[in-house]
Amino acid sequence: MTHKLLLLPGDGIGPEIVGQTERVLQTLVRTHGLNVETESALIGGAAYEADGDPLPPSTQALAKASDAILFGAVGGPKWDGIERDLRPERGLLRIRAALDLFANLRPASLVPELASASSLRPELVAGLDIMIVRELTGGIYFGQPRERAEHRAFNTMVYRRDEIERIARRAFEIARLRDGRLCSVDKANVLEVSEFWRDTVTAVAQDYPDVELSHMYVDNAAMQLVRAPKQFDVIVTGNLFGDILSDIAAMLTGSIGMLPSASLNEQSRGLYEPVHGSAPDIAGQDKANPLATMLSLAMLLRYSLNEIAMADAVETAVAEVLAGGLRTADLQTGGGPSVGTVAMGDAVIRALESRAD
Ligand code: NAD
Repeated sequence: MTHKLLLLPGDGIGPEIVGQTERVLQTLVRTHGLNVETESALIGGAAYEADGDPLPPSTQALAKASDAILFGAVGGPKWDGIERDLRPERGLLRIRAALDLFANLRPASLVPELASASSLRPELVAGLDIMIVRELTGGIYFGQPRERAEHRAFNTMVYRRDEIERIARRAFEIARLRDGRLCSVDKANVLEVSEFWRDTVTAVAQDYPDVELSHMYVDNAAMQLVRAPKQFDVIVTGNLFGDILSDIAAMLTGSIGMLPSASLNEQSRGLYEPVHGSAPDIAGQDKANPLATMLSLAMLLRYSLNEIAMADAVETAVAEVLAGGLRTADLQTGGGPSVGTVAMGDAVIRALESRAD
């Protein structure tokens, strides 16, 4: 079967990091028999410049027709002054909504060689491997009613059973592919909506007897993430709690240039992107770390294309390159020698090719 992939490089360092990742993709075609058809399209500021719209209808149509999307980053000071609805970031928000990407997957893992980049002691984070599954399209960010009046304001945290069930199922399935442990995070001691969340996740667990389910209050989860993060395998939680916990988990790794993410819909189509932004300060200088985007490609292979062996191959190649001592400037905490974006791409491709021989 030919997989249809859409590349959306975007702005700033986007074209450089997606460019190197596309070379990795082509290597998989050559050496591992990956069967893909790729298209590229404009999004964000680049699309605004060309078409006056950060998500032109042509890009949206290609996105809807593809099995998966690899996204770079959007935005930059050039577009800070324009009207809100035309800003580059709107392109990303609109594509998420158009594809109903309700499940946001944010892994936080750390190869032992980078443990010194963390603000925690290396022994607490070396070998860390957590996956946070955040509900992305419901909860307090979207609940009605909401109001801002002169002397008070409120939002509504609301979850329907079907919304909780679908994110819970996705998280159980991911836990099955990993260490088989799922921790559901809520605030059930205070909030009715959380009590309902907990009961619903517990009911879904009946269908996954091979996964060990636990529950934790969000305040404790935040504390445990910085006290002993390696106790977690997969965490599932709502939109607000997930927003906060995934940033805590990300920072345990200390390196923004290494963090991939995925947002999936019911059909496992998805958008894959590095967690970082368009880094205008280093754009066009061959300084950007392309590894977060390459690890996003690995997630794409695993979760949308079901090419597990190729996903493993990309992750292993990245780990080997790091183990060999290669560092882009952002990873070089000790001030040692560093390599550029293209040289890092070359090294990952060499590692992939040597495995395929
Ligand atoms: P940023 O993530 O772009 O950059 C923060 C810092 O990290 C900068 O010093 C940058 O050089 C560095 N950095 C980021 N990615 C890197 C990489 N791959 N390799 C090496 N260094 C890297 O965040 P910011 O500066 O707050 O935002 C810049 C622009 O990006 C803004 O316009 C913002 O709106 C946009 N943004 C876009 C996304 C997205 O597209 N998903 C996410 C966040 C921010």
